[in-house]
Amino acid sequence: MTGEIERKVALVTGASRNIGRAITVALAARGCNVVVHVARDIASGEETAAAVRALGVSATVVSGDLSDPKTAAQVVNTAAAAYGRLDYLVNNAAIRPESPFESIKFEEWRDVLAVCLDAPFLVSQAALPYLQKSDCAAIVNIGGLTGHTGASHRAHVITAKAGLIGLTKAMAHDLAPLVTVNCVAPGMIATERQAKDGVITNPHHHAKRTNLLGRRGTPEDVAEAVAYLCSPGGRYITGETVHVNGGAYLS
Ligand code: NAP
Repeated sequence: MTGEIERKVALVTGASRNIGRAITVALAARGCNVVVHVARDIASGEETAAAVRALGVSATVVSGDLSDPKTAAQVVNTAAAAYGRLDYLVNNAAIRPESPFESIKFEEWRDVLAVCLDAPFLVSQAALPYLQKSDCAAIVNIGGLTGHTGASHRAHVITAKAGLIGLTKAMAHDLAPLVTVNCVAPGMIATERQAKDGVITNPHHHAKRTNLLGRRGTPEDVAEAVAYLCSPGGRYITGETVHVNGGAYLS
């Protein structure tokens, strides 16, 4: 543990597994206490919290559907009350269904935008009074490669992730100088996918895409970029998107 963000407090949304879990562990490895948010899967959230505590820092699990404004505010208030402060917010929670454009039902479109775009807005707004009391506040939004390139079968996800870039830039303006706001855009990351109807499928675009480094990234590759943006070394960066995709744009 380097202790470079020791005794700070982070709220990481959607941290039950994969990238969210890796982000909590990367922050904990630098001495940060972590509030582990999950939507419903509290058992997996507790596994994340155990990985954090194994590094000698504190973890608290909170749950709730962040697309609901009241719940989003409750989650933030509970997180801040757990440690009496909030220094970092990582908006990582997402749902990423895949359907051809012509089959996307309006309800599904709304659901994706609610979790992937409305929730970062709601959670960030609720967190602001706490973050503004910190001397090192940072918000990191987790975007995605296809929000920049487009891809088939995910018009709703791509629209939300592209919107998150706009939200990042807008918030960087409005929250400066107290809070930095950046986006980390992962791409081609090997994560455990949830089975749908008993079948686990990789994203449609993975089959066609290559990158310069010739491998899939890990959740830890993404988490290190997030931790850097929360560290003292990242304090002069705001409004930016860091692309973690092994050079996918260049291949
Ligand atoms: P994941 O494994 O699918 O986990 C999603 C998380 O979001 C879970 O913790 C889930 O909680 C939570 N969540 C779902 N619905 C929610 C809701 N309504 N309110 C609050 N939380 C909710 O995620 P991942 O694959 O690690 O991806 C993490 C981030 O990286 C996402 O923003 C994703 O778009 C981005 N990303 C991932 C990849 C990749 O290759 N995986 C590539 C590009 C971008 P429960 O477990 O309780 O349901």
